[in-house]
Amino acid sequence: MIPSKFEYLRPESLDEAIHLLSNAGEEGKVIAGGQSLTPLLRLRLAQPELLVDVGGLYELRGVRDEGDALLIGASTTLHHLAGDPLIAENCGLIGRTAGLIADRAVRHRATIGGALAHADPAGDLPAVALALQASFAVRGPEGDRDIAAADFFLDYLTTALGPAEILTGVRVPKMPGWGYHYEKFHRTAQAWAIVGVAALARRSNGQVTEARIGLTNMGPVPVRATAAEAAAAGTEASRNALRAAASRADEGTEPPSDLHGAPDYRRHLARVLTGRALAAAAGV
Ligand SMILES: Cc1cc2nc3c(=O)[nH]c(=O)nc-3n(C[C@H](O)[C@H](O)[C@H](O)COP(=O)(O)OP(=O)(O)OC[C@H]3O[C@@H](n4cnc5c(N)ncnc54)[C@H](O)[C@@H]3O)c2cc1C
Repeated sequence: MIPSKFEYLRPESLDEAIHLLSNAGEEGKVIAGGQSLTPLLRLRLAQPELLVDVGGLYELRGVRDEGDALLIGASTTLHHLAGDPLIAENCGLIGRTAGLIADRAVRHRATIGGALAHADPAGDLPAVALALQASFAVRGPEGDRDIAAADFFLDYLTTALGPAEILTGVRVPKMPGWGYHYEKFHRTAQAWAIVGVAALARRSNGQVTEARIGLTNMGPVPVRATAAEAAAAGTEASRNALRAAASRADEGTEPPSDLHGAPDYRRHLARVLTGRALAAAAGV
């Protein structure tokens, strides 16, 4: 279908973008790479009167080293993340996961800000941000604020971003000594995850001392598998022990039912994939 009529503006600064959005109220919408928003426009599921394109804003692009953390600009593309040396060295989970999303053409346009602000429960990066305990830098008419990943995803396609607020960057802590893995289950290459698991693990003296697990598509928002995290902490770093801990991965989840799988199937996948992801993160 052809989208409804809209005005399209490319501001030259972040402040100009916020000003435009503030004036437009409910009728204004941010666009970055357009990979999620354009299909919604074409289906007329979104009918904004104004699109404010932040994809070209230089201040929202690239990865900055802040010492203990990396600040990833919201308009940094997934293609860039998959090949960035700072990301590979300090936060490989993001680079690995970005490289598993869609295909090369989509990754060249899609941005990390769009992937997070869209808040699709089948999206891979929200669960990664949750497991990393990332913090989201936001600017709006009232100024700057930070939102913890755990407080950002409120419901299906719904975030804590207020009207006229723009996600400017994602702050991810460097995690030296942690292993990581993202395990994605899909039936065809480049498809969305039926279930995905982001795992981080720290080892010492043959034991996993701490584990973090984020689940994709196991509810309307990404969730932490806290029961499995607790079971993995202090356990022997072996495949069998981690598989036992992973048997609790689906506790507290609300997996959806759709053409790709029933809730029970997804629960099974979450347990199996968590066992694999934890073992890979722990290096066993
Ligand atoms: C064929 C195809 C396959 C895909 N497969 C996968 C997959 O396997 N896994 C996966 O995770 N994703 C997948 N995606 C989705 C893709 O990752 C997202 O479409 C993309 O990352 C969104 O980024 P964007 O810059 O294109 O956002 P846009 O489409 O421009 O925007 C998406 C939403 O985010 C908002 N937004 C964008 N930037 C900001 C900002 N800075 N501040 C506030 N709001 C903002 C927009 O208003 C809009 O609501 C796929 C997409 C396609 C087209």
